[in-house]
Amino acid sequence: MPKSNAQRALVVGAGIAGLATAWWLERAGWDVLVVEKAPAFRAGGYMIDFFGPGHEVARRMGLLPALEARRAPISSVTSVDSRGRRRAEISTEAYEAVADGVISLLRGDLADVVRDDVRSPIRCGVTVSVIDDGRVTFSDGSVGDFDLVVGADGVHSRVRELLFGPSFVRYLGHHVAAFSFRDPSLSARIGYRYQMLTVPHRMIGCYAVRDGAMAALLLYRSSSQALPADPAAALRERFGDLGWVAPSLLSVVPDDIYYDEVSQVDLPVWHRGKVVLVGDACGAVSLFAGHGASLAMTGAFVLAEELAAGTDGAFERYQARMKLVVSRTQDFGRKFIGWMAPSSRLRISLRDMAFRLSGRPVVRNLIRGSVMPDVDGVLLRQRAS
Ligand SMILES: Cc1cc2nc3c(=O)[nH]c(=O)nc-3n(C[C@H](O)[C@H](O)[C@H](O)COP(=O)(O)OP(=O)(O)OC[C@H]3O[C@@H](n4cnc5c(N)ncnc54)[C@H](O)[C@@H]3O)c2cc1C
Repeated sequence: MPKSNAQRALVVGAGIAGLATAWWLERAGWDVLVVEKAPAFRAGGYMIDFFGPGHEVARRMGLLPALEARRAPISSVTSVDSRGRRRAEISTEAYEAVADGVISLLRGDLADVVRDDVRSPIRCGVTVSVIDDGRVTFSDGSVGDFDLVVGADGVHSRVRELLFGPSFVRYLGHHVAAFSFRDPSLSARIGYRYQMLTVPHRMIGCYAVRDGAMAALLLYRSSSQALPADPAAALRERFGDLGWVAPSLLSVVPDDIYYDEVSQVDLPVWHRGKVVLVGDACGAVSLFAGHGASLAMTGAFVLAEELAAGTDGAFERYQARMKLVVSRTQDFGRKFIGWMAPSSRLRISLRDMAFRLSGRPVVRNLIRGSVMPDVDGVLLRQRAS
């Protein structure tokens, strides 16, 4: 129960950043309300590798056992040709060096584990229409007054738009789609190995999740940032000529597919008045960088820690601690495009060669340096006094 004189916080968005923010704020004595645009909690989604500082934040929240229980035991990364034959594989040693401490799990599972430990009310099917500093008008017409409003509504943040306008999204020239489906025989054939077929500017990958389920990821270059009206049709058009598992995957694209442009958010100031942004809303790094969930958890922790130290200047201190690492991770993400979606056959061959040589310490370290941004230590340092 919140204290009767508790300050009121509104968190917009029940994703990873929003739920983690609610978790930390309610434990600091805030009276928290979470609103989520989706009509129901978003489960499943795409697979993420969860590590780095967010992993440490999850440990401090006592959530690691629950996260471990949902881990998908991915053991290798394999590049295949259009008939599914192995072209190259990252060695076990290199995979372990890169993936040390990584928990691979569905985005929805991470959010679900945090949500299970959040006591504050979560109102689904509701968003914000007007924000006048602490006074908020919701989409259902109700109005509320808050001491703090946290925009945790993702890369296409409505809160950010209400505060600062529609700009600040940096398109990285690709569209991405991800979905899960059940196919026990394909799941047994592919196994807990991330297998991918890459042709210039296009990548299709899949892996077994658990209980006969599969997760698929499709990525392609597009000069247009605009999303297609029919994502399934767009994927069939883009990937229909590829062999391997492409026909099977394209025949089971579900209605609730995740489909989006790949972009980053670059915003000079993350707050205004009583309103502050957290997670992808202010610092999306993109799937190419692969640390967005970790940074979302960390941002929530740092924001709550700075608020606990005193509300005066808390947003500035929070941003000062987070922004450098977000910018570094974004730089890293842009460089990583060439690993995930190489632009030519030569580049695909060079990447595969690095995979084949990855058992050698020099190449292993090179790969580790290429796929891991330098994020550790920056965020979780003690607060500057
Ligand atoms: C394919 C893919 C692979 C990825 N792989 C990794 C990885 O390996 N490792 C990693 O760390 N990160 C990865 N990421 C990034 C990671 O998923 C995001 O950075 C992370 O989910 C950001 O969390 P968030 O809470 O800020 O935003 P989100 O997870 O997007 O959550 C935002 C929430 O706000 C809700 N919402 C949106 N608009 C409104 C509104 N107007 N009102 C109310 N609610 C609203 C949404 O429905 C959602 O529930 C990947 C991303 C993608 C797309």
